[in-house]
Amino acid sequence: MHEALRALPSVDQLLIAPEGQALAQRHGRASATDALRSALATLRSAIRDGAPAPVAPAAHVLSAAEAALGSAALSPLRPVLNLTGTVLHTNLGRALLPEAAIVAATEAMRDPIALEFDLVTGARGERDAHLRGLLCALTGAEDATVVNNNAAAVLLALNTLGAGREAIVSRGELIEIGGAFRMPDIMARAGVQLREVGTTNRTHERDYRAALGPQTGLILKVHTSNYRIEGFTAEVVAGHLAALADEAGVALLNDLGSGSLVDLSRWGLRREPTVAEAVAEGAHVVTFSGDKLLGGPQAGFIVGRREAIAAINRNPMKRVLRLDKIRIAALEATLRLYLDPDRLPERLPVLAILSRPQADIVAAAAALLGPAREVLQASGIGVEVVACDSQVGSGALPTDLIPSAGLALTPPGDGAAPERLAARLRSGARPVIGRVQDGAVILDLRCLRAGDEPVLLAALGEAVR
Ligand SMILES: *Cc1c(COP(=O)(O)O)cnc(C)c1O
Repeated sequence: MHEALRALPSVDQLLIAPEGQALAQRHGRASATDALRSALATLRSAIRDGAPAPVAPAAHVLSAAEAALGSAALSPLRPVLNLTGTVLHTNLGRALLPEAAIVAATEAMRDPIALEFDLVTGARGERDAHLRGLLCALTGAEDATVVNNNAAAVLLALNTLGAGREAIVSRGELIEIGGAFRMPDIMARAGVQLREVGTTNRTHERDYRAALGPQTGLILKVHTSNYRIEGFTAEVVAGHLAALADEAGVALLNDLGSGSLVDLSRWGLRREPTVAEAVAEGAHVVTFSGDKLLGGPQAGFIVGRREAIAAINRNPMKRVLRLDKIRIAALEATLRLYLDPDRLPERLPVLAILSRPQADIVAAAAALLGPAREVLQASGIGVEVVACDSQVGSGALPTDLIPSAGLALTPPGDGAAPERLAARLRSGARPVIGRVQDGAVILDLRCLRAGDEPVLLAALGEAVR
């Protein structure tokens, strides 16, 4: 054993070897030294524990260090293949942006832009002005502003319209969105007192009316985006709440959650209330997300009546929640696409993916079947084309399943084999994220971009190597 330990090379010797120099060149001298030292220590302790010494210890340590440096060099934020079937996957970054937005964001990063600068007069401008016109045109609102995300939009609107007073909200709409966004908690942080009315399944106009008083700051309506109450239910539509709010001299805040700028039923999806409809119903303020059905970067839009938006813009919190130039550029480019709704499906990835017909996905799966079987043959993993269901995700259209198709990978072995395969698929240079179901790893191909088939096949091959 002592002989084997004495035969080990030193870190300095390894660094002088051509392979060691190559490591230092690629990863930096400090990282290469650390990796070699740690690989050497691992080998030394293995030998002390009785493991046989490798025939070529230097080569062994160098290749262990190279493997460690290689995986450390992979960014945890590297692109993944989202084959979960959830199109707007919050944990995978939600909407894929349109090419126009990517170009605009890239230019804004590389070059100065007239963010708060009026190109006509040469005077100071306003960063929200670039989006205000588009938002008003697309929603019919009198005015609009934008903040970090919809959670921020709700917080800011609540604080502006109701701080120190009560917000009346139906018991059935006190939702938790996930990621710690709970309506009652947000209200407390906004300095607004929660006044629940009605019951979980039924709330009537008389319930709101009875709660109105001098202490009322606003009425809040929340789109129950991530669940649906069915059966014996009653809710008061926003139009009636707006009239009630006007009568009482308070504001109606309508949080749409996802919201949509166009009627999605045109492309075979279920109809969601559009932002324009919510505005037309008379809400003083309507809030919605930038990166849900709208298909842009993370943002929270606040549109509505002129005085309400002006008050929101005067709130010092607005400055805290403002957007940077990169996102404003991407949002402007995304919103612009909505001026030509006919061409949206070809330009807006979220819509293209959601409206992709099942037959198209079945064909893509069938074309992949042969090559996938070939790649996985030696591993004994079975591959089949299966029908499955995609969903929108991010709480949008929560109960709607969209017929889709994919590959089911069935690994041999015990009950934990599918989880192990899923983990290996996640660990590669291009992680593949599927879902484990009934003893198989299901790869829903709805979100696989045309042209990415070789990337998927390479990832499958890497996972079984
Ligand atoms: C998603 C959602 C939010 C939060 O929006 P983010 O853009 O994720 O911050 C708020 N309210 C409703 C109803 C939602 O669906």
